[in-house]
Amino acid sequence: MKNTDNRACIVGAGPGGLALARAFKNLGIEFDVFERHSEVGGIWDIDNPGTPMYASAHFISSKTHSYFSDFPMPDDYPDYPSNQQIFEYMKSFAHAFDLYPHITFDTEVISTNFEDGAWTAHLSTGERRTYRWLICVSGTTWHPKLPGWAQDAANFDGEVRHANAFRHMDEFRGKKVLVIGAGNSGCDIACDAAVAGDQAFVSVRRGYHFVPKHIMGIPADVFADKGPNLPLWLQQRVFGGLLKFLNGDLTRLGLPKPDHRVLESHPIVNSQLLHYLGHGDILAKGDVDRLDGKHVVFKDGSREEIDVVICATGYEWKVPYVDPRFFSWKGDRPDNYLHMFSRTNPQLFGLGFTETNGGIYKLFDSMADLIGRTILTMRDDAKAWTRLENRIRTHEPELSGGIRYIESDRHATYANIDALKDEFKALRKHMGWEAPKAGYFKPVTPHPTTPASLEVA
Ligand SMILES: Cc1cc2nc3c(=O)[nH]c(=O)nc-3n(C[C@H](O)[C@H](O)[C@H](O)COP(=O)(O)OP(=O)(O)OC[C@H]3O[C@@H](n4cnc5c(N)ncnc54)[C@H](O)[C@@H]3O)c2cc1C
Repeated sequence: MKNTDNRACIVGAGPGGLALARAFKNLGIEFDVFERHSEVGGIWDIDNPGTPMYASAHFISSKTHSYFSDFPMPDDYPDYPSNQQIFEYMKSFAHAFDLYPHITFDTEVISTNFEDGAWTAHLSTGERRTYRWLICVSGTTWHPKLPGWAQDAANFDGEVRHANAFRHMDEFRGKKVLVIGAGNSGCDIACDAAVAGDQAFVSVRRGYHFVPKHIMGIPADVFADKGPNLPLWLQQRVFGGLLKFLNGDLTRLGLPKPDHRVLESHPIVNSQLLHYLGHGDILAKGDVDRLDGKHVVFKDGSREEIDVVICATGYEWKVPYVDPRFFSWKGDRPDNYLHMFSRTNPQLFGLGFTETNGGIYKLFDSMADLIGRTILTMRDDAKAWTRLENRIRTHEPELSGGIRYIESDRHATYANIDALKDEFKALRKHMGWEAPKAGYFKPVTPHPTTPASLEVA
């Protein structure tokens, strides 16, 4: 094996990379972070080229559930902070835990190769660095996916682009806008078009359940958390009934009836789309068939004159700088053990390749701690490592929490947040690793708010 000084290479200084850097610092693991952009924060920096961020974007989970452990969001933040506020929060996190000195900015990891038990990272500066461990935390929203008909827009007089190239509602002034897809970003962008455009349309293929951002004045995730611990079928009945009571029959707004029960798809948390549909400022349309001159033609035979089509149709997940053999893939999603551990290369990890029904940052903290502990075990305790390596290779935990998620690329590796936390606990128990307690992470510079519960699984 090459001499790699037992260092780890972290690719990306978004929220996931920052969580890892803080965890590794605490555990005494030597590491370097490489970030191709000039600042931390990942997608939340609207100036990070290729980010899917847009001016009106706000958090989808509430600030109550979505902060890093021991670093709550400032008290004066609203329930659902804006993207600018999240970006400020990310920078203050990196300052508070003195992470900047560990990050090399404006440096992309172009490719890697694994030889003689070591990773070599080929950097955009031309340099090559060797590491024992590689942790990919380079994000999942950088490779836009377009529908087939949108890839050939030669017959269309208007403009077609992916949502990741949309920044501000002013781009819609004086235009008829069609947004494809009613995921969380699609809903926001359709609402921007309702405000600034001449007419907005949203094309939806299947029906969804829409969760309002507040229920009885409380953020929806806080409301859900306060409820009793019901069996899944009863949760679906009660929550489904509540949404029906609040939203009524969505088909009256032109939306398809949901073809699945509540909780069986990624939550769409939006209070505005139904408002604008109810006012006629957004019109619901079905699936698109083709583009034709000034028109978009829909599968039901209807056509609309459209100036701009925005495809909020998701992203391909890629780790272009790692040989695909080292992660196993399910569709276009890495299928790692507990969403982190490569099953074929024990010196390779991914973080952030997880979609779940809740705020992700405390989960990132848990994952970062588990990766760190795995590295220490591999480094210092051969007997325990044999036990862990075997588990990583062979354990196939059930992460759906008993929910039958809808069949789609997005849900191919979708995890229920409680099931994931339970599996983290089981791994800790198996290895005798204690979960960090509140106050484990101590900021170098004081934080304006009081640390709350750590809640690491
Ligand atoms: C509109 C929107 C709203 C969202 N709201 C929420 C929410 O409310 N709650 C929640 O928990 N999550 C939310 N998310 C999910 C969001 O993805 C995460 O919050 C988070 O940004 C993911 O962090 P990450 O570090 O994994 O990836 P990213 O934020 O994508 O960061 C990856 C970083 O890696 C860098 N990078 C990429 N490739 C390389 C390379 N080869 N070399 C060097 N650097 C590289 C990139 O420049 C980037 O800085 C939202 C997402 C969107 C798009």
